[in-house]
Amino acid sequence: MGPKSPHASYAIAGGGIIGLAVAYQLTQTFPGASVTVLEKEPEVGRHQSGHNSGVLHAGLYYRPGSLKAKLATTGIRRMIAFCEEHGIPYERCGKLVVATDAEETARLRELLARGEANGLQGLRWCLPEQMREREPHVAGVAGVEVPEEGIVDYGAVCRKLAELIRANGGRVLTGSAVTRLRAQGPDWTVTAGQHEFTASFFFNCAGLQCDRVLELAGETRAARIVPFRGEYFHLAPEGAALVRHLIYPVPDPKFPFLGVHYTRMIHGGVEAGPNAVLATAREGYTWRDFAAGDVADVFTFPGFWRFLRKYPSMAFYEIRRSLSRAEFCRSLQRLVPALEEGHLLPGGAGVRAQALGPDGTLLQDFDFVLRRNALHLINAPSPGATASLAIADHLIEQVRIQTF
Ligand SMILES: Cc1cc2nc3c(=O)[nH]c(=O)nc-3n(C[C@H](O)[C@H](O)[C@H](O)COP(=O)(O)OP(=O)(O)OC[C@H]3O[C@@H](n4cnc5c(N)ncnc54)[C@H](O)[C@@H]3O)c2cc1C
Repeated sequence: MGPKSPHASYAIAGGGIIGLAVAYQLTQTFPGASVTVLEKEPEVGRHQSGHNSGVLHAGLYYRPGSLKAKLATTGIRRMIAFCEEHGIPYERCGKLVVATDAEETARLRELLARGEANGLQGLRWCLPEQMREREPHVAGVAGVEVPEEGIVDYGAVCRKLAELIRANGGRVLTGSAVTRLRAQGPDWTVTAGQHEFTASFFFNCAGLQCDRVLELAGETRAARIVPFRGEYFHLAPEGAALVRHLIYPVPDPKFPFLGVHYTRMIHGGVEAGPNAVLATAREGYTWRDFAAGDVADVFTFPGFWRFLRKYPSMAFYEIRRSLSRAEFCRSLQRLVPALEEGHLLPGGAGVRAQALGPDGTLLQDFDFVLRRNALHLINAPSPGATASLAIADHLIEQVRIQTF
């Protein structure tokens, strides 16, 4: 017999990689409990989990002691073990982070120290000639090699998780948007599409909509989701030939975004991106997508104006770069000067569910609210896919601690 479940039944809003990982871990750990995932789209993994760089992050960037550091370092091991066990293709191709001037070199030294403090294995400081042994076309004055990192298809991970949840006796109900939550004593009555049922615990893993689902539960949303779209180009074969593995810039520590980079994809080809431009729809993947409610949500939030006042140049530069292929190409050429604008073919996009605080600060760490038999995950950006199984363990442990 396994450990006792803190609750008899669980409802999970959101069939992205984190909601599915939570449900899967619940069905594995507490076989007697009832577990239901409610996903509003016709299939799982449609939003962030199916629109990302597909990188397995090992934990280089994150402040030692933060949840991101802890859950990325354990999460990458968990994710690789999961892929091994279930035959999901992945590759540990390694990554090179490249500094292009003295200021970036100083920041890169700090990143190396962080990576070492976070326990990453095999990190190596590289001089230009050592970088070029690995990536012959890369420019830059110094680099750090991160051999543990790799690539995977997170959409495939989502589909496998859904299959395993069902095989374990759980339910994954697609086309079922959670639209109402009523507290009934210690339980929740959940309305989702044509379904209405009672669950003794509710997980909100609704990604881009998580602050709205928080409100459905009667909570006030202190932080708000601000959608930052990340656009990619697909590299033509001549451009792809310039890249062997993963090539990343040194990120700006003020922002939780890693900067446009080159990513070899697990199913072939190389992508370049993503930028981080304010989106006019939470689930809008192009400039043509506009959702008045989403835009109003951003513009009526004082935290957004405080953010703009702090970083006006970032916001306007990102808009310019999004509208200009030449500008996008220039940022990529800092890493690989031989890249040409003609190598950039239209690619896809993803939208980050980035929580913004009322003081105009972008939340850097994973964050959640645990109240009244409900856990709301309110900030789970990158490396949320890598860390998903470790995030699930952590959240379930918090529920267990609160209950017993
Ligand atoms: C451009 C980009 C690049 C990234 N690159 C990486 C990377 O390389 N490596 C990495 O580890 N991470 C990366 N990330 C981050 C990673 O993709 C996310 O951290 C992760 O996918 C978050 O998973 P999630 O389940 O919280 O969100 P989602 O995948 O967005 O899932 C939330 C789900 O909730 C559903 N939903 C919303 N509202 C409701 C409702 N009311 N009722 C029912 N269902 C609802 C949505 O339809 C959606 O399916 C990237 C993200 C982006 C956007």
